[in-house]
Amino acid sequence: MIASFSKKIHWLGHDGFRIDSEKIIYFDPYQIEAGPRADLILISHDHFDHCSPEDVAKIQGPETIIVTEKDSAEKLTGNVRILKPGETLNLDGVKILGVPSYNTDKDFHPRKNGWLGFLVEVSGIRIYHAGDTDYIPEMKDLKVDIALLPVSGTYVMTAEQAVKAALAIRPGLAIPMHYGAIVGSNQDALDFKNALDGKVDVLILKKS
Ligand code: ZN
Repeated sequence: MIASFSKKIHWLGHDGFRIDSEKIIYFDPYQIEAGPRADLILISHDHFDHCSPEDVAKIQGPETIIVTEKDSAEKLTGNVRILKPGETLNLDGVKILGVPSYNTDKDFHPRKNGWLGFLVEVSGIRIYHAGDTDYIPEMKDLKVDIALLPVSGTYVMTAEQAVKAALAIRPGLAIPMHYGAIVGSNQDALDFKNALDGKVDVLILKKS
């Protein structure tokens, strides 16, 4: 079920994804081509490479719901819902939990900002988009089928730390993100996959 669902997940580069499930769901669209109109856009925090109003405009329609934190909400228009870590939303059959997302050994993403990762349940599959985060203790309590985890280091956890995160979360499938733009290389994604060989299934997506 996870393997077949993973075919519905499109990596748009960096932390951007589109999920073609019963709803069209985007995460952090940044430098994207125009695509199918979004039912739901989830934006983790207001850094320019995550909250990009010009990219949102490419996929936003009158019915689109945006779920994000307060700082990004100020930069966006339309049907914008503010979510805090620990809060849940149920939107037309899609369950969304706000997950904390923050740095532990650097200052780019302070915990007090209330920026977000998301645990989204759709079609019976639980997808975790971690946002810009280090490996944090809250991760081990999540029940996750598919985990989208940053691996670049610098602003977020390194591939090595992301391996620890994946081993704590134990998802059915992990997909690396946050490389190939701004910071991080394909090698980071490969290091992540190789270190988890035999422990956690890892899928490296081609940008599409
Ligand atoms: Zn950031």
